[in-house]
Amino acid sequence: MKIAVCVKQVPDTWAEKKLRAADSRLDREAADGVMNELDEYAVEEALQLIEAQGGEVVVVSMGPDRASETVRKALSMGADAGVHIVDDALGGSDAIATSAVIAAALAGRGFDLVIFGSESTDARMSVVPAMVAERLGWAQLTFAQKVEVSGSTVTIERVTESGFATVTAALPAVVSVVEKINEPRYPSFKGIMAAKKKPVETLSVSDLGLESAAVGAGAAWSAVNDFAARPPKAAGTVVTDEGDGGVKVADFLATQKFI
Ligand SMILES: Cc1cc2nc3c(=O)[nH]c(=O)nc-3n(C[C@H](O)[C@H](O)[C@H](O)COP(=O)(O)OP(=O)(O)OC[C@H]3O[C@@H](n4cnc5c(N)ncnc54)[C@H](O)[C@@H]3O)c2cc1C
Repeated sequence: MKIAVCVKQVPDTWAEKKLRAADSRLDREAADGVMNELDEYAVEEALQLIEAQGGEVVVVSMGPDRASETVRKALSMGADAGVHIVDDALGGSDAIATSAVIAAALAGRGFDLVIFGSESTDARMSVVPAMVAERLGWAQLTFAQKVEVSGSTVTIERVTESGFATVTAALPAVVSVVEKINEPRYPSFKGIMAAKKKPVETLSVSDLGLESAAVGAGAAWSAVNDFAARPPKAAGTVVTDEGDGGVKVADFLATQKFI
């Protein structure tokens, strides 16, 4: 079985994120880049499938030069090879362009399964897996809390508001996973050393047969017109209990329309 895992480098989850005044884009240099947390679960799931059934895991990432660190992290966890799509023309790409680039990188490479995280922690659109599935013409099984591959089919437990639904599709298929599907492993020292020797293919937009004009900020279907910093937290209301604390709290909740 040949599995691709799509991983995105995002600013550290805990770092304060800022938009740049000059172009209203996320200031990615202001924080360390890390692998999108949900994508760690995607890598782990692919590794577990391969460990059980044999095969190969290829990690795919679109991002600037430093996104190669995220590709290496997936390799140090145990993925076999990487594909890094890096091109100045890609800066400011929206989800439509991102999905076109990723789909072009996946097509024709003999993948049985492509695993995504279900959303990125920076843009949080949660649409790229569905868009890639549509572009490839493959079934999409999203929000998986459990994945099983048997013969030429994949079955997932798809998280719903009331529980989960069991969904099956023929391979090749696209799966996105939710947090808690597994416990992502930490790269071992041996894994980190081995990752240095694993192959990483670097591709540009033209290598994928796409036009530079079809990606990047100029081709984005949406634009940030305006933004403002979140207002600082207001001071809380202190209720001094002078024997009537309960009444005061109830009054406060009523004025806030909580009760
Ligand atoms: C006007 C506008 C300007 C923007 N400008 C920029 C910009 O300058 N720079 C920038 O980086 N982003 C920019 N973005 C955000 C960009 O659109 C999103 O990064 C992109 O659409 C992917 O969406 P997402 O991150 O919300 O992915 P989601 O759909 O939330 O991601 C789901 C999964 O898809 C996969 N995935 C997503 N992106 C990648 C990737 N790049 N490589 C591999 N796998 C991936 C991962 O597995 C991820 O868990 C901009 C968005 C808009 C609307």
